[in-house]
Amino acid sequence: MSTYLILFAVIAVIYFVLVRNRPAPKTDWENLPTLNEYKKLEKSVNADDQLCCRFCGSSDINKRLLQSKKENPDDTKYYHACAACRRVLWRSVVMLTDKKEDQ
Ligand SMILES: [Zn+2]
Repeated sequence: MSTYLILFAVIAVIYFVLVRNRPAPKTDWENLPTLNEYKKLEKSVNADDQLCCRFCGSSDINKRLLQSKKENPDDTKYYHACAACRRVLWRSVVMLTDKKEDQ
């Protein structure tokens, strides 16, 4: 009987070690390109050399705060979405040092 308990404990330990060592899956936000990466994509700049939506060509782009306390605990992460077709285009991070001075 105790042999089974020890065996179970060993399996449980191995299981938790394996699960905990697995890298965290990338979030949707992390899969977005940064601004520099976005600029290198096709159609990200219009004929006037202005940054624009690569899906519809609109240069009207909104900056929005990532609304996730888990992913964005310090309110430093933003994403930029096209105002015309509402697709998310790239991500950005505000330096935390700028915010700390206000507190
Ligand atoms: Zn668009």
